[in-house]
Amino acid sequence: MKLHNDETLRKMVRKAAFLNALKHNGKAQTGAILGRIIGQKKELKTKVKELSILIGKEVNEVNLLSVQDQKRIVQENWPESLRKEKTREDEKGLPDLPDADKYDEITTRFSPNPDCVLHLGSARAIILSHNYARLYEGRFILRFEDTDPKVKKPVLEFYQKIREDLDWLGCKADEEYIQSDRLSIYYEHAERLLREANAYVCTCPSERFREKVLAKDPCDCRGFSAEKNLNRWQLMLEGFYGEGEAVVRVKTDIEHPNPAVRDWPALRIIDTCNYPHPRLGSKYIVWPLYNMAAGVDDHLMGITHIIRGKEHLTNQVRQEYMYKHLGWKYPEAIHYGRLKITGAYLSKSKIVQGIKEGVYKDWDDPRLATFAALRKRGITSEAIERMIIDVGPKTADVTLSWENLYAYNRKIIDPICSRYFFVSKPVELTIRNVPRIFKAELPRHPEKPERGFREYTSKPQGKEKRVYLWIAKNDADNAETGKIFRLIGLFNVKIERISTDSLEASFFGEAYEEARKKRAKLIHWVSRFGEIACQVIMPDARVDEGVAESACKELKPNTVIQFERFGFVRVDENDAKLIAYYAHK
Ligand SMILES: [Zn+2]
Repeated sequence: MKLHNDETLRKMVRKAAFLNALKHNGKAQTGAILGRIIGQKKELKTKVKELSILIGKEVNEVNLLSVQDQKRIVQENWPESLRKEKTREDEKGLPDLPDADKYDEITTRFSPNPDCVLHLGSARAIILSHNYARLYEGRFILRFEDTDPKVKKPVLEFYQKIREDLDWLGCKADEEYIQSDRLSIYYEHAERLLREANAYVCTCPSERFREKVLAKDPCDCRGFSAEKNLNRWQLMLEGFYGEGEAVVRVKTDIEHPNPAVRDWPALRIIDTCNYPHPRLGSKYIVWPLYNMAAGVDDHLMGITHIIRGKEHLTNQVRQEYMYKHLGWKYPEAIHYGRLKITGAYLSKSKIVQGIKEGVYKDWDDPRLATFAALRKRGITSEAIERMIIDVGPKTADVTLSWENLYAYNRKIIDPICSRYFFVSKPVELTIRNVPRIFKAELPRHPEKPERGFREYTSKPQGKEKRVYLWIAKNDADNAETGKIFRLIGLFNVKIERISTDSLEASFFGEAYEEARKKRAKLIHWVSRFGEIACQVIMPDARVDEGVAESACKELKPNTVIQFERFGFVRVDENDAKLIAYYAHK
């Protein structure tokens, strides 16, 4: 459909134009509205040109009106919008950012170390930072913090994997920076701090420095002149010192109650001949530490709001000293509580170690809570987003379970997924005396008959009028001689004989009522003609082998479906065999 003919979209644009006009003295701005609409309707990203024309048209009309008229129209049509705070919470479920009005453009960032793929533990930082930027029509920055080639060594493949994860989450960055490209910037600021006697090169052995600092006793290096410090800095850069022999320290209150704050290290030497950086090899030996690099970047990149876990509170205290030295204002910082997801491995080191040792096959192993694994299992990014927004940026610790995430996901996929039969660990069921041909009409969706049916014909064979089916081992294990089952969509059967991997039964009427009266269990089945082999990989990496009904042959990879009485799965491959990953019940 042409965007100009999309009445819902036009109304949305019109509303956005009016609200934007009121924010800007009666003059709405096309660019800001464009960002907002695309933020809400991501599928329009590919139609930016057409959308801009549509917005431009509405903006022109709105801007012709007086502010008074604009206010009146908003009051009449969207009175709720005039109560700003309220609206934001209603629409997005996120509380307002502190002091948002003080800034022209809200800018947030997500700053991962590319030493691992992203996992559910990062979702909160990503989604809150991204959604706040969109909510305020601001900028969302992706910054790779890759300045530790030794202990938290970055890995080339993860830069791209992280970008892909953000895309999948619908949190594509407006700008991207890589800290290892910016070493000269950190050097420049280090020099300024040294020149202005706000930092010093410390060559004390770390043990000795720790003792002194714990005793609130400055080391000798702290008292050296700026000139001497710049000299020693030069020696650092030239390779005069080895690893661990010199660090640049930022001066703080040497009596600060928290010893971890006192004169924190800002830059140090790493022997990149032995620990080459994946992007830069051994080009540099002086590397900024976290607080130096992040602190300088947050200021230079114009970050207005830092949204991160409360474990960073001490880092803020450290960085504020540097900000003061440099005459900068520290951004607004929101520190949310810990988000624990029971049963999920959220530690990077455990993931990396497990991969190295071959415990996990790959980054998308279903046992992991990486985004790649969740994606593979058919967990939607929308479910993750809704869960995170409901949790919000509150400071209290929150514990969620896999079940919580599944509930969000179920709500999204249940109304759209088609239903199919998958028989796990199939057991033969042969039914005798089936009086006629039966046609099973199984709805693709129980509440949406308009989506059509899967149709199977059961034609009795031979003198004994036999019908041949597969049923799941779970159901077969429940069978007892004389017990009645109802085969969903077909008829009732009475179990006659049970052997290890097959059951025999006889036809026992077709009325559903009768099955109900006998409290017969409704079981699903797959015809022994035309079935396809199917493998479901479970969240614990166990493989469930079975057969799926022939309609599954049409399924394209990446489709999420429900195997009735089994669970939701995502089709991964569908060639000779259907391979699916289990999402949840
Ligand atoms: Zn020292």
